[in-house]
Formats: sequence, C-alpha cells, structure tokens
Amino acid sequence: MNQELLIDGKLVKSEGTIPVIDPATGQPFAYCAKASLRHVDEAVAAASRAFATWRRRPLADRQAVLREIAGIVEAHRDELARLLTQEQGKPLADAQWEVDGTAYIFRHYAATNIAVKVIADDATRRVEAYREPLGVVAAILPWNFPLFMAAAKIAPTLLTGNTLVLKPAPTTPLATLRLGALCRDVIPAGVLNLLADENDIGPALTAHPNVRKLAFTGSTQTGLKVMNAVVSTMKRLTLELGGNDAGIVLDDCDPEATAAGLYAAAFTNNGQICVAMKRLYVPDALYDAVCDALKAVVQSKVVGPGLDPRSQLGPIQNRQQFDRLKSLIDSARRDGEIICGGEAAPNGGYFIQPTLVRDIGDDSALVKEEQFGPVLPIIRYQHLDDAIARANDTPFGLGNSVWSPNLDRAHEVARQLDSGTVWINKHGDVTPDVPFAGAKLSGIGVEYAEDGLHELTQLKIINLGKAQPAQSDAPAIRTEKR
Ligand code: NAD
Repeated sequence: MNQELLIDGKLVKSEGTIPVIDPATGQPFAYCAKASLRHVDEAVAAASRAFATWRRRPLADRQAVLREIAGIVEAHRDELARLLTQEQGKPLADAQWEVDGTAYIFRHYAATNIAVKVIADDATRRVEAYREPLGVVAAILPWNFPLFMAAAKIAPTLLTGNTLVLKPAPTTPLATLRLGALCRDVIPAGVLNLLADENDIGPALTAHPNVRKLAFTGSTQTGLKVMNAVVSTMKRLTLELGGNDAGIVLDDCDPEATAAGLYAAAFTNNGQICVAMKRLYVPDALYDAVCDALKAVVQSKVVGPGLDPRSQLGPIQNRQQFDRLKSLIDSARRDGEIICGGEAAPNGGYFIQPTLVRDIGDDSALVKEEQFGPVLPIIRYQHLDDAIARANDTPFGLGNSVWSPNLDRAHEVARQLDSGTVWINKHGDVTPDVPFAGAKLSGIGVEYAEDGLHELTQLKIINLGKAQPAQSDAPAIRTEKR
C-alpha cells in the first residue's frame, strides 16, 4: 500500500515516502507519501481559495457533506478498522468501535445548527451576534485515536464554514489519508487537505501566515512549542494536551463491584488516552481488596496482535513510547511493588503486559509523569482531604474521577478536584455533545458542543439603530439559514 496526500481535491504522490510500522511486529507494512514544505504551502493556498466559496455555502449544504462522509465511513467500516489496527495496534473490535465513533461524530455535527443570537431587540436597536468562520484552520494530531481525532477536528471545522489542513501523527497516517481519498468526491476541492510527515512539518503549519487557527492535540511539551509559534501571527489556538488524571476510590466502595470500571478507566486503548485514569488513590481500609480485585481483572486480559480476535489489548503504538514505558516500569520496580505485568512480552512487537504497581509514593516518576500506557500506580491514602490535595498536586488538569455508591458524597469530592472534567463512577467518557477542556497545563480552549464551535468562529455583532420605534416579533434565538 502506498497512501497519498490530499491537496486541493487531488491525491498527491511525493518523492520520498514514509514507512509505516506495524507495532505488532515492529516492521514496516505500508508506505505513505511524505509532505514537503512546498506541499504545506500548496495545501494552505488550496484551503484559502476554497474558503471563499465554502463559507458562503448554506449551512444545510455543509451539513449534507458531513452526512455523506458519515455514510462513507460506515460503508468502509471493515477496511478502515483493519487499517487502524495495523498502524495503531489496537484490537480489531476496538478499531471497529473507533470507526463507529468516527461516523457518529460526523453525524452529530451534520445535525448541529449554528445559532444566531439576538442580544437586544427593542424600540431603539436590534443587536445580533453571528458566528463567522475564521478561514484556514490547521489541525495537528497524536497517534492514539487517529480517525476519531481526525473526525473531531474535520466535522466542526467544516460545519462552521472554515477550511482545513490536517496532519495526522507521523506513526499513524494511513487510515486518515484513506478517509480523505474515500471522501474526496463529496468534499469540494481544497476544503479538506491532508498531509503526512516525519514529525517535521508541524512548525511550518503553526507559523504559516495564512492559517488563522491552530487546533492542536498532543503532548504538553509540544503544545508549549505550538503556543510560542502562533504568537507572531496571532492565530486562534486550541490546545488539547496531556493529563495525569487521578481516580479516588471512597471508603464505601465495593472493591469487587468497582474493579471492572477501574480497569476500563485505566486500560482502555492500552492506557493510551489523554483522559485515561493514570493514578489511583485508594483508602487504607480497602487498599488490599482493591489491589486484589483489580489484579484479577487485569490478569484475565489477553495481550496480542490486534488482528488476532482473541486479543483484548494490542501492542504499544510506537517504539519511542514502548521504550519510555519500559523505563517507567523499571523505576516503579524500585519505588513500589509490581503485582502483575511488568514485562515486555517477547512477541517481536511493542507488547507490554498490563501492569499494576502498589505501595508506590507520589514522588515516583510513574505517579508524577504522564505514562500514557498500561501501567497503573495504586496509591494508599488515610484521609480523604489528603487524597484530594494529592490528586490536585499536579501541573495537569485534564480529568479526574471519584468512585462511590454515595453520589452526593462523590459529588462533593468532585467539586474540589481541579480539572476540566470530573467523572463519577466512570472515567474518560467524552462525547461531542459535552464541552471538553483542560485546566492548567492540560490545554487551552474547548472542544465539542457549542463552546467548541465558538473556538472555530469569530464573534461578529451587527448592531442596528432603529429610526422609528418598532414592534419586533423576532425570537430570542433563531437558526442560521444562510
Ligand atoms: P506529540 O506532542 O509528540 O505529537 C503530536 C503531534 O504534534 C504530532 O502530529 C507531531 O508530529 C506534531 N509535532 C511535533 N513537533 C511539533 C512542533 N514543533 N510543532 C507542531 N507540531 C509538532 O504527542 P503524541 O506523542 O503524538 O501524543 C501523545 C500525547 O498527546 C499525550 O501527552 C496525550 O495525553 C496527548 N493527547 C491529548 C489529548 C487531549 O484531547 N487532551 C488527546 C490525545 C492525546
């Protein structure tokens, strides 16, 4: 397979290609076109040209395009899922779930209206607030949910009348480029452009004078570079960055009944989720019981190649992350007790057995840093106030969770946690109808829901003076029809 770039509605080959590694084998299984700086300029120019007409298309037309993309994703479910598994590593069932979620995102935005608000309408004036598109948006993505993340950028960006240049992560370009190739007949030329790189064109996109907004999802470290890079052109910026989410088990929990939920919170997608539960705080009285119950669930899981239907956890997505996790496990071995996992499985690929570490302190690298993998520290606490303070003692603020059958009590704790989202009796539930934002070093801006659309639009006020007092029958909010 040799996947091409999408620029100005055309599939574009390149001089060099990028080998795409199958993380289940550590070997290349496909090649992908590699964008140069010239391609960046061509893609931004195509998106600028397309913006002039795309922004004027009636909202219903833009919604219809998103609906057609959803249909194409659904029709190619098996092909896209297989590609995702091969490049990302996740088990096929999880890849199918991601493809379904991708279609869902497009359908969600296809049914989303953009409200024009009437702020005042009286005898002297009528004031309306419009949401105008910004222009060319550039999106830069990580490798954990390649298609889902792409949909989360493409759908709202196109809905709001912007055009887009999107760059997937260097290690997971294929499913995204394939999606572009499948959809290019239904999306007007230049409205969506897809580039792939070897971790080298991000700075050209962030600095480009004709890009009006940068939508970045990735690590905090790179996010800080992106933030610096957009200053001179004063681009709008959304940063969805790293996290170190804590889960706090309250002392009235039933360890057996809670274990499956705690497992899903920490190990879904092999822990490679920005909003995975990355530290678990457990009260003294329940500590052994929670460790044992969680260990039983973790040990029941099958690790193997994603294309093997028996596999419930696949390999780690890339070599760099695999090596980092091995080094975090080594430090955790010194700082605590590994009660299951702890080994890199000898299958050739980047496999790590899901790992639990108990009796580990807050100063261990595994607790302080974002592991982004299937290695969970379980930390003991005596007093709930202390657990809350320790959960908050991090530069990150993406999500947290509280686990208890007493919802009022859990709610009280949730109010004291410093993060963009706090879940109760679940973790990582992110849907496009609910705004998603990171506090502290976990990000800037909002994705999803109405707040997310605001980040992709310029507020424009039309303030009309009325010569004659007039009676208005305008409703407070109406739907954009243009
Ligand atoms: P990363 O920061 O290494 O890379 C992300 C993207 O940035 C890649 O496409 C990369 O090529 C690009 N990039 C690298 N250098 C750049 C530069 N100087 N300028 C512009 N772009 C540049 O992150 P990753 O390892 O791919 O992903 C894992 C991280 O992403 C984790 O920290 C995770 O928590 C975070 N993440 C956050 C969210 C969220 O919504 N908050 C979602 C998923 C992942």
